[in-house]
Formats: sequence, C-alpha cells, structure tokens
Amino acid sequence: MPTYQRPPGTLDILPEDQPYWSRVRTHAIHLAELAGFERLDTPMFEATEVFARSIGQGTDVVEKEMYTFLDQGGRDLTLRPEFTAGVVRAYIENGLYVEVSPQKLFSIGPTFRYDRPQAGRYRQFTQFNAEILGEQDPAADLEIMTLVWDLYARLGLADLEFQLNSTGCPRCRPAYVEGLRAYYEDHSDHICDDCQRRLEQSPLRVLDCKAEACQPLLERAPRIQNHLCEECAQHFADLREGLDLLERRYVLNHRLVRGLDYYTKTVFEVWAAGIGAQSALCGGGRYDGLVGLLGGPETPGVGVAVGLERIVILMKELGVEPSAPRTPEVFLAYLGEAPRRRSLMLMDELRRGDVGVYLAMGRERGLRSQLREADKRAARYTVILGEVELERGKATVRDMKAGDQADVDLSLLVTWLRERVG
Ligand SMILES: [Zn+2]
Ligand SMILES: [Zn+2]
Repeated sequence: MPTYQRPPGTLDILPEDQPYWSRVRTHAIHLAELAGFERLDTPMFEATEVFARSIGQGTDVVEKEMYTFLDQGGRDLTLRPEFTAGVVRAYIENGLYVEVSPQKLFSIGPTFRYDRPQAGRYRQFTQFNAEILGEQDPAADLEIMTLVWDLYARLGLADLEFQLNSTGCPRCRPAYVEGLRAYYEDHSDHICDDCQRRLEQSPLRVLDCKAEACQPLLERAPRIQNHLCEECAQHFADLREGLDLLERRYVLNHRLVRGLDYYTKTVFEVWAAGIGAQSALCGGGRYDGLVGLLGGPETPGVGVAVGLERIVILMKELGVEPSAPRTPEVFLAYLGEAPRRRSLMLMDELRRGDVGVYLAMGRERGLRSQLREADKRAARYTVILGEVELERGKATVRDMKAGDQADVDLSLLVTWLRERVG
C-alpha cells in the first residue's frame, strides 16, 4: 500500500478518463451558450454565512456536510457545497441586476460535501450549474429544465423523465405546512425520529422520508398541489403546458421537495430508465426569495445543478464513446549528437507550426527502443534522423500505420507533416 492515498470520497481523474470529461464539459458549455447563458466563475469558498443563510440551518447540507474552517485571519469560511448561493452573492455584489434581465449564468467546477462516500458520490464532486435570475415567467423554468434534459440526451442517455412538483410560495405554503404539521401531529407515534425533528425545523422534508414506518402516513398526507395560491397554480400549469409542447416527459411527484430550504414553486429532478439503482440524475428549482434573503433586491430565480461524475460513470456503462483525445501524431527519433540537436530544433519548428510532436528522450538510446515508444504513444508518423540523413539534408519519415517510409527534405518537413496530420 502506498504511503499516501487520496482522502476518502475524492477522485483522481486519470488521463485515460479525461476524454469522457472533456466530452461532457464541451457539450454542457456548448448547450449553455446556445441558450444564451454566460459563464460566471465564483471562488471555491465563501463566507460560511452565505451558505448557512441560503441553504437553511435545518438542512443536512448545512448541519452535517459542509467543509468549514477558520482561515489565518480568523474568517469563518466554507468550501462551496453547491453553486447557487455563491452565484447569487456574486449577482448582488457585482450589481448584475442592473444589467440586461434576465441574467442567464452558468458555472462549472468542483463542489464539496462531507457526505458518506458511495458509488458515484464523492466529497469533492464536479457540477455544471445554470441559473436564470430576474424572471418569473415559467418559460425560464422550462429553459433550465430543457438545458439539462438536452445535455443528458446528447450524451446518450435515453428514456428521460422529469419528476416535478411545486412547493408553493410564501403566500400559500405556510397554510399547507400548518395542515401537514397538524396531520403529522395527530399520528406522531407512527413516525420516525428524523421526521419528529423535521416537523420542528423544516416540515416539508417529512415528505421525502424513506423510512418504512413513515410510508403509510405519507400516502394519505395532504398534497400541496391542492393548496397552491392562484399565482402558483397558474405558474405550475403554464410550466406543464410548456413541457407537453416540447415533449419533455414528466410525472408529478407530490413528495419531491429537495433538500434545500430556498426553493419556491418549481422543483424538479431528471430521471433516466435502465441505469440500474434508480435515483435522480440531477435536480433544481425556483428560488424567488433567495436574492432578497442574501441582501439584494427582490429578484426571482431558477436554477439547476448537474453532477458530472455520475454522467461519466453512466457514459461508460452505456458504452458511449468519449471524445478522441488529442495527442501528438509525430514522434521524433534520432541517432547521434548532431541529429539530436537538429531534432530539438525540428520539435520547436513543428510545434510553432501547430503540429503536435513527441521528442525521444535519453541520450545513447537505441533506435529500436525509440520506435517502440513511438508505437506505444500511437504516433502516426515517426521522423528518423541519423548522421547520414542529416548530411543529405533529409529525414526518413515512417508511416506507422501503413508501415512504409519516405525520405523528406528537412526544409520541407514541417509543410509535409502539416499536410498529413493537420
Ligand atoms: Zn403561492
Ligand atoms: Zn420519517
């Protein structure tokens, strides 16, 4: 066993896996830009308060999962457990609310949660995140939802489906929550300890309880869809109409509340069939109170976060081809001191001419060993330069696939190779 190992719940993304990552990132950024989203990068850590206030004190994320620390200056900081809070902080701090509205922003990068490590779940994980700030129109919810749907579809996932719910707003939710609490208090000897606690701190979360004991009660629990105010009901109906129109399949799930406190109206998850143990691929929702809560002007918002590790695992399971990695197609082999110096210069010339090139290393190395390396690196052409060739002003270029070789004038070599590997 090696002396040092990576911390539990973290991942080394080795070169062989990078083509998958590169494909996921490329599609995500392409789709975001097609839909008019602009990139925003925020720091990987923020004042702890930013997350505690927005995500909510009673949540698992804030209570159990944050990487919180004091820096040398005594500041209370936390590695971001998600993007939205930091994006909203940046939106307010940089006055993006005076720019064209809505602001459509996307981010991509690592996030951190002290979660129980399991297959596909990491303590440092990578998210693609998109937000639309400044728009109440259900069309914004629809754009966010189609963005992630299209990403999964392009990456080869089939049988996609949204799980969809509305969690109401500050006008209609309190009455529903009271009703839910009353219903649960009448049956409090039949619920799990977690739910007892949730009833106090964030009652909506009793709805996503997985405990056996709570299931019979949940079946008959009051449903928020029947308690939405007119505005929320209309918003929800319009969103569903849009999903029907664009033929994005969804099922209503009255138990879907998501683990964060800031959601209002829409919450959703994307599910895919045929991928083994069933769970959400990603989730998001609307958060109309969040900008105000963090000290900005009252501004509606809606967003989504996609975990990229999970996508990469699925692509492999489904046999989806990754992007072809870009590696140099030319290998420079040489024998002797003068050819070695000339090869160094060739390497320089080729790279300036945008031709990728490996240079053989190690003095006094035999040609056979150099060719073996060229083969392992899957170079398309190997340039072989010896004393005799150099004196004639030529190099031997071997086509590694076809197995034949040609003598090429050194003065023409860059052009010759560019024509073939460009
Ligand atoms: Zn409402
Ligand atoms: Zn429970």
